[in-house]
Amino acid sequence: MAGKAGIPQRASSPNFDARPIEVRFLVIHYTAVDLARTLEIFADPARKAAAHLVIDSDGALYECVPCWEGVALRAWHAGQSRWHDGAEQWEMLNDWSIGIELVNFNGNVIDFTEAQYAALADVVSRLAWHYPALQSADALLGHEQIAGFRGKADPGWRFDWPRVFAACYPDQPAPARPPVCRPVLRDALARFVEIAPDTAPAANAFWERVSLLTETAVALAGGDVRMRG
Ligand SMILES: [Zn+2]
Repeated sequence: MAGKAGIPQRASSPNFDARPIEVRFLVIHYTAVDLARTLEIFADPARKAAAHLVIDSDGALYECVPCWEGVALRAWHAGQSRWHDGAEQWEMLNDWSIGIELVNFNGNVIDFTEAQYAALADVVSRLAWHYPALQSADALLGHEQIAGFRGKADPGWRFDWPRVFAACYPDQPAPARPPVCRPVLRDALARFVEIAPDTAPAANAFWERVSLLTETAVALAGGDVRMRG
């Protein structure tokens, strides 16, 4: 059965390779900026970044790089990345994954919305129907699990992995997805919530810088050291 997710609104991006990929994973991100700025960045060839799908705070879905109809082109969302799934080592996850961005200024300190969790469950269901590898809970990853070594810290502490696994894969054990951002940094980041501007474009500029700071701090602290356990 196909999922019940609504048809996404189309948002164009030049930041992908026009060749189909074999989809083995889904990679979850947060945007660090609001929806309008996210779509602007993904439409800018100079930024060389775009995910396939964006889910706004209200659950509205946007497709920036084709994947929805069953053929996924190669979006530039994961960058340098690697993942060992217990059997195999994967590199350059752009070749193997669909990227989903959740609009959130910083998922280490700001909650995702009910509407986003509902939309995400629908999206995963729909994509798993097209791409059978996604029928395994192990296929669902965060950007931080595959690129924490260079500071990527999304979707972060506030992303409720157990909830998402329970909603999307109720019959499978939930894999561990520990955040790479250390608690001391997360608690420091929480202070930015109090002083952040609350309207664009100031909020976008502010949180984009906080995101860069987060990445630098995570990379300096050893990135995926927790994953190496
Ligand atoms: Zn990311």
